[in-house]
Amino acid sequence: MAFEVRSYPELSWSISRDKIFRECKRQYYYHYYGSHNGWLDDVPEETKQIYRLKHLTNLYMIFGESIHFIAENSINQWRLLKEFPKREELIASCKKNLNDAFKDSHLRSKWIDRPKKSLMLHEMYYDGLLPEKRTNDIRERLEPCIDNLLKSRTIRDITFTQDSSIIEVEQLNTFYILDDKLYVKLDLLYQDPIGRYVITDWKTGKEDENNQAQTLFYALYFKNQFPNVSLQQLRIRLEYLKDGECTEFEPTEEMLRWAKQQVIDSIEDMRIYIEDDNLNKPKHIDEFYPEPSKKACSSCNYRELCSHKI
Ligand code: SF4
Repeated sequence: MAFEVRSYPELSWSISRDKIFRECKRQYYYHYYGSHNGWLDDVPEETKQIYRLKHLTNLYMIFGESIHFIAENSINQWRLLKEFPKREELIASCKKNLNDAFKDSHLRSKWIDRPKKSLMLHEMYYDGLLPEKRTNDIRERLEPCIDNLLKSRTIRDITFTQDSSIIEVEQLNTFYILDDKLYVKLDLLYQDPIGRYVITDWKTGKEDENNQAQTLFYALYFKNQFPNVSLQQLRIRLEYLKDGECTEFEPTEEMLRWAKQQVIDSIEDMRIYIEDDNLNKPKHIDEFYPEPSKKACSSCNYRELCSHKI
């Protein structure tokens, strides 16, 4: 199949896109427009640079992704073999992912040539080292997260009966609201032993009130996929693996109306920055105002390009 080169990316919506949009419009520009086509040979060097920076990762991201990957693989192994990997194997796998990211980050020219094929930690790229506080924090979280995953309510549910029904694990899906395409990936959707549908979201950080609002978006997706299932049959569960806490709620129609309106408003706000709606051609970069803050700029991938950083 021939690969189509598009002058502009498609306009779609996702939780991560909304987060960057809210944080800083200039960062949003770089991430969703400036980086477009940066994988091609015959584009300006700055486009390639933005595309590379888009692929920077960081210790917390690698850690979070590793725990999600471990959960996904463990559940898939359970589906096939009805057994879980050993705790020690999971700990070793997570440590290996972190070590690989650290090692890769020393190979700057490899990453510059193929930013999608190797890893570069933001900490190493900008500071040349890993902050001790951060590495200690992750070291302290690692084993509790694995232990709490293995004894989580979700894993207990899944293993309670031989035929607990797993519907989706880390599957990238799309659906539409008012003709706009939305991307969504549930950590896990399954039916518990008493037949209720459960959406599980694994969290490796602290409890945050935004987490619940985000999960309503997952409920919107669920309702789109299963329009005939009553919301009373759905539970949304946040599993906080660091502390072993678990919160669960039943979304209501009113909550879903609110979440849908949030998405519609967010897309409408994003459209303000588009010059040509059909092409999704953005306005000039100067229209995407930098919104510097210590929190946003310290973790921003595009620091080296931005003269407004704090
Ligand atoms: S460095 Fe700060 S102001 Fe500049 S793009 Fe990033 S978040 Fe925005």
